[in-house]
Formats: sequence, C-alpha cells, structure tokens
Amino acid sequence: MSEVIHAPEPALEEEQGPRRISHWIGGRIVPGESGRTGPVFNPATGEQTGEVDFATREEVDRAVATAGEAFPAWRALSLSKRSDLFFRIRALVHEHREDIARFLTLEHGKVLSDALGEVARGLEVVDHACGIPTLLQGRFSEQASTGIDVYSIRQPLGVCAGITPFNFPAMVPMWMWAPALACGNTFVLKPSEKDPSASLFVAELLQEAGVPDGVFNVVMGDKVAVDSLLEHPDVAGISFVGSTPIARYIYETGAKHGKRVQALGGAKNHMVVLPDADIDMAADAAVSAAYGSAGERCMAVSVVVAVGDVGDRLVEAIKERLPKVKIGPGLDPSSEMGPLVTREHRDKVASYIESGREQGATVVADGRELEVDGDGFFLGVSLLDDVKPEMDAYKDEIFGPVLSVVRAETYDEAVRLANENPYGNGVAIFTRDGGAARQFQFEVEAGMVGVNVPIPVPVAYYSFGGWKASLFGDSHVYGPEGINFYTRGKVVTSRWPDPATSVVDLGFPQTR
Ligand code: NAD
Repeated sequence: MSEVIHAPEPALEEEQGPRRISHWIGGRIVPGESGRTGPVFNPATGEQTGEVDFATREEVDRAVATAGEAFPAWRALSLSKRSDLFFRIRALVHEHREDIARFLTLEHGKVLSDALGEVARGLEVVDHACGIPTLLQGRFSEQASTGIDVYSIRQPLGVCAGITPFNFPAMVPMWMWAPALACGNTFVLKPSEKDPSASLFVAELLQEAGVPDGVFNVVMGDKVAVDSLLEHPDVAGISFVGSTPIARYIYETGAKHGKRVQALGGAKNHMVVLPDADIDMAADAAVSAAYGSAGERCMAVSVVVAVGDVGDRLVEAIKERLPKVKIGPGLDPSSEMGPLVTREHRDKVASYIESGREQGATVVADGRELEVDGDGFFLGVSLLDDVKPEMDAYKDEIFGPVLSVVRAETYDEAVRLANENPYGNGVAIFTRDGGAARQFQFEVEAGMVGVNVPIPVPVAYYSFGGWKASLFGDSHVYGPEGINFYTRGKVVTSRWPDPATSVVDLGFPQTR
C-alpha cells in the first residue's frame, strides 16, 4: 500500500554520508535556502547521519501562507469526512509504527520497544480525534427568552503552530496536530532540530491518508523559525512543549503578539514512598520510571522521597536491580536503555554525579563507570542517596539516568518538599493506605498524580499538563482541554418572525 519513505538502514547512511533533512510545505519536500543547518546524530554510534535545514523568516512565511490558503476548504469539510480521514491516518500510522519507531531510535537513541510505546501513546490521541463529531458539539437553550433560542458552537482558530522537544519526536507532535486538524485548523510544525526525520515521515503518511496539501506543514529550524512563528500575524495559536526557560519565553512572546498559547515546560517529578509501601513494587517502578528512555522523559521520576524507615530497604532494593538494566544500542532488541541524545547532554548529565558527590550525596551507583565500545553517547544508570534540596542534583532538571533519593522523616515533610519544588508536572505516591493516598491527591501541587503508578500520563480522553513552572498558559494538551484550545466559542442568539405573520400561508392559525 505504501509509497512512503522508509527509515534508513544505518549501513546505508554510512555509505552515503549525512542525509539532507528539509521542510515539508504544501505537500512536498522543500529544500531550505538559508544555508544554515544543524547536525543530526545517531546517538548509539556518535556518527552524524543527517544535516537539517534551518528555515529563514521567509520560509516560515511561505509555510504559514500555504496553511492559510488551505484553511477555508479544510474547515468547511464535514465532520464525518474529517473523521473518516482520521480513521485512515490512524490505520496508516499503526501500519507504519515500526518505521516511525526506527526513526526515533536512529535519531533520539531510545530503544525500539520504547519507541514503539511512544508511537502507541501518540496514536491514542489520534484515536480520540477520530471522534471529532461528538467532541465538537455545542449547547442549545430553547426559549431562553420568549421566542428566542441561544446556542453555542465551537470553530477552529485558523493556522496553528506546534514547537516540539527532542524527547518525544513522534508523540508530542501528535498531541498537537491531531486535535488541531480534527478541529478544522491547519498546522505548521517546528520539530526539534535534534531528531526531525519522524515528522517528515508522518507528513507523508498524512498525505497518503488523503489530508489535502497545505493542511499540515513542517518547518525545520532553530530560534529564527520559532520567533517567526511567534510573531507571525496569521498564526492564531501556539502549542509548545520543551524546557521551562523556553516555555516561559514562548508564552510571553506569543501572548504579546496576540496569540493563544499553551506552553509546557520542564519537570522534576517526585515519587513519595511511604513506610507501608510494597517495596518490590516501588523499586521496580523507580527503576523503570527513572531510567526508561535514559531518563529523558518529562514524566521520568527524578527524585524518590523515602519516608521514615523505608529508605535503607528501598535504596537496597533499587541498587540490586541496577546491574540488570541492559544498556546498549536501541536497535539491539536486548537493550533496555539506550544512549543520551547528544554528547554535550550526556556530559552535562554526568556532571551531576560529580557535583552530587562534592555537595555531600552518597553515590550508590556511578553511571560513568559503564564501558561501551564505540563513540555512542552512553551513560550508565546512577543512584544518588542522601540528596538534600540545596544540592544541584536536586534543584536542576537533570533529564538523564540519574535518580536522587531524599530522606524525609514524615509524610508532611515529603509533601512539603514536592510542593515547594518550582516544578509541578507529575508526582506519585507509593503506599497501601488509601486514606494517605487520597490526602496526597488532595494536597499535592502537581498536574498529574499517580497512586502506585510512577508515570501517570493521562489517557487521551483526559488532558496532559503540569502546574507551576511546568506549564505556562491555562490549557493542558490533548483531550477536552486540547479541543477547547484549538477552537473558539461563538454564541448565537436567534429569533425568528412568528410564522403566523408570514406573507406565505404556512397553515398556522392566526392567533395562538
Ligand atoms: P528545548 O526547550 O531546548 O527545545 C524545545 C523546542 O524549542 C525545540 O523545538 C527547540 O528548537 C526550540 N528552542 C530551543 N531554544 C530556543 C530558543 N532560545 N528560542 C526559541 N526556540 C527554542 O527542550 P528540549 O531539550 O528539546 O526538550 C527537553 C525539555 O522538554 C525538558 O525540559 C523536558 O522536561 C521538556 N518536556 C516537557 C514535557 C511536558 O509535557 N511538560 C514533555 C516533553 C519534554
């Protein structure tokens, strides 16, 4: 069935040198004209496999103009036809999930099973978008006043833009383009310059599904492309996911230019373990949630808060699991954890092990001791115990396979720690006590809470988003809040002349 490109074989890349990765505008690949590019690496080998174009302001203008031209026909398409298209998109993405996952592994580094999981979670949002005819329903009040009806409708914004991070190169764009398109908007995506290829592949799948040219566009680039989108008068809505300083900048700049903005930022997710918790369950959860995807997840557990006397038992249980985490290239099916995304990021993450030691933490496991052949950006799993809130390893978002354990005397101290942290993305509690879990859910200041669930990413029919420095704007992504974000309300107040006064005899009695 498919004419779409397939993920390149690594051997092919070696022979041919870096691949050129360009824009997708109006339904075709458009080579960049700026002469500015960025390197794309295979993190498992350290080799440069791609060269991605960086768009100029004029190229972004072209993409926005193309999306603007496609908007009237796209918004006029009936809901049932849009829904049909989404079922086709769903089928194609599912059919090509392994190709997409391969792109993710080759450019991000995550292991294939994890990459497939990413596509599956993204697809849930596409599933949700298939139901757009029921998701876009308005309200109706008959006889609000005598002879007057009032009803509300939701309409698309126009051209929307998405700016996405490196760590979920397929799923996070799906969080945005799926609801945006389903609501009748057209879209310009600016993916991370570190792993851009999956976005082009998905663009081809959308075209194959029958999405008209110009409805979905991709511009590659850096700050120049992002600023052009933020300042463009014809971009109505901006969705962003990335680090907190950039999220704040996107929110402020987009709002200054009159756009609605949802900007999700960084995280420092705490996992509170009470003394009555199932230790094996908590240790398994901590290991998979801290080191999965090499810790490069915005919902990764970064801090375990061990309450009361659970600390020694828990640290021991985590420690004994660490040697079993198999680290290697993502394409090797036996690997459980791959490399980090770039050499610079790997080195920065590793620096927190040293600073932790210098500032008084106990280094239980040191990932720098890992030995791997070749020049891949690997770092082993690290565990820091006795971490204190004033240490850099606690204060900063490390975004790598370094797990900190903070000891807390009481439940109250643990909650205070989580609540005083500037971030508020995800948080989890491990306990057998339902009352304690309920109290935690009531008072903890974070947008997503797990009860014996370490990574509580909401299913697609809820919405995803954090609190505090993890979100700028008032709208979470996908689910009901996503539909709300990508539409604007209109309320119609209507009165019709009394049919009895019609110039045509409609058969109504003259007096009622
Ligand atoms: P990043 O903020 O560096 O980049 C995100 C996007 O912004 C990229 O497309 C990038 O090209 C662009 N960008 C970078 N610097 C810019 C600048 N100065 N001006 C304009 N645009 C700029 O983030 P990243 O390193 O790609 O991703 C990791 C971060 O994303 C982590 O902080 C992680 O917690 C966060 N994240 C958050 C969520 C969430 O749901 N809250 C999800 C995934 C990732």
